[in-house]
Amino acid sequence: MVVSGYVEREAEVTTAYQKYITTKTTLHQAALKPWQPGAADGAPISRLYNNERLLNHAAALRLVSSKTTIPVPKLLGSGTNPDGTAWLETERTPGGLWLDTVRDKCRMPAGKQHTTITADGECDECGAIARANAARFLADEVIPQLNMLTSDTTGLAGVVIPPLWVMHHFPATCWPSRKAEAGAGEEGFVFCHGNLHGHSIMVHPETLHVLKIADWDDAGFFPREFQVWTVTRGEYEAYYEDMGRLERMMGLMEGRGGGLEMSRL
Ligand SMILES: [Zn+2]
Repeated sequence: MVVSGYVEREAEVTTAYQKYITTKTTLHQAALKPWQPGAADGAPISRLYNNERLLNHAAALRLVSSKTTIPVPKLLGSGTNPDGTAWLETERTPGGLWLDTVRDKCRMPAGKQHTTITADGECDECGAIARANAARFLADEVIPQLNMLTSDTTGLAGVVIPPLWVMHHFPATCWPSRKAEAGAGEEGFVFCHGNLHGHSIMVHPETLHVLKIADWDDAGFFPREFQVWTVTRGEYEAYYEDMGRLERMMGLMEGRGGGLEMSRL
């Protein structure tokens, strides 16, 4: 079940839904058993698609790494343990920084440090450079290639896992995979990352250019309107609050051309 073994284990972290084991070169993620006491307060927890998210992540990595030049973590293995829990193992990117953390300090070499560093040591200038690099890379390299991956069926391999900003409002709703209604003029679906923002974009610690696009748990084929991305934390958080947009998205997902009974919210 484990490709790398635990020999050079560096750290083990249990979150509400998964256990993360890192070595110098690998990241192993395992889903917790449903209703197992959670890490936060020992209360039993579970969530829809907790296993499927890891297997979906693996399927997305296989698809994107074989059909595009988008840089993604190398998939080392995935599967299901004898107790039914899913696991996923990927290669780590040594030194990589999440885009959202770039501004935590100035990343320029000694002697070339920016002069706008805050009292807390944060550097907005480095943050802005990295965000601009990431925005250009996503617009030029990532989104066009994802839009080239098309399907007439939603989800991926029969499973539909909507973005987290949708799941947040519908934690117990399953959306069955559906076919595009060509007769109604509906075009096919495009492959979407699902949560493409500052915490799934990894950049080089010195050049501040994009190294990897990670976290493909929510990826799948969706209407083109789902092909959204942002390099700004505030914009990402706003996804969760924009109920009008959510309503349009749900209508598209269910093949109703927009419009959701808001009583369900
Ligand atoms: Zn700086």
